[in-house]
Amino acid sequence: MAISDAYTKSFIQPRDALLMEMERFAEENYVPIMQLPAIEILLQMLRIQNPTTILEIGSAIGYSAIRMAKTLPDVKIVTIERDEKRIEQAKHFLSKSNVKDRITLLEGDALEMDVESTYPSFDAVFIDAAKGQYKKFFEKYSPLVKKDGILYIDNMYMHGLSDLDIKDVPKRKRTMIKKLHQFAEWIIANPAYYSTFFPVGDGLLICVKR
Ligand code: SAH
Ligand code: MG
Repeated sequence: MAISDAYTKSFIQPRDALLMEMERFAEENYVPIMQLPAIEILLQMLRIQNPTTILEIGSAIGYSAIRMAKTLPDVKIVTIERDEKRIEQAKHFLSKSNVKDRITLLEGDALEMDVESTYPSFDAVFIDAAKGQYKKFFEKYSPLVKKDGILYIDNMYMHGLSDLDIKDVPKRKRTMIKKLHQFAEWIIANPAYYSTFFPVGDGLLICVKR
């Protein structure tokens, strides 16, 4: 028998007022912030890893960046967002938080940006941006991850689409899902990483650099 969502959610610890406000905002405005059971696993892994620097691709309204910063009191986070409206929303919520001094928001497309000349290395990279571009993000940003560093990749389940036979995937989504499958096969066969899939939230892949 599969574990129910209600049972899983019963283990989630309380969050502060700002985080609750952001969760409500995200729900009302259809902002795809990470699902609670998945972000709790991400945060718990980060407590264990204890990185001092994190790169996040896909800030949205800044929810996951603020949560990571609140979880790790010394961490410095660089987070990238390309959507102007979300950038404004992220700035608003960051300014209300007590962790804004440790979060740098870079505005633009992560695939076109020169991050490495200013920030040459990170202990952790969290990829949570355009689906179907996993391999491109991975290829551009994995060289910045130190040995024993970790890449965390959200949305490997694609709301169930990636778990379907490709002929059952709606036609307009097939290219994206095929690219996801190619990325998944490539990373699982890649001996440079210990890669583990966590079947939680929308599917979290964790890759430890050997
Ligand atoms: N990490 C956030 C949710 C991110 S949602 C949280 O859990 O709180 C994904 C975001 O990635 C969207 O806001 C989208 O605009 C952004 N995005 C997608 N592709 C991008 C790219 N190539 N460069 C920068 N941002 C991108
Ligand atoms: Mg996500």
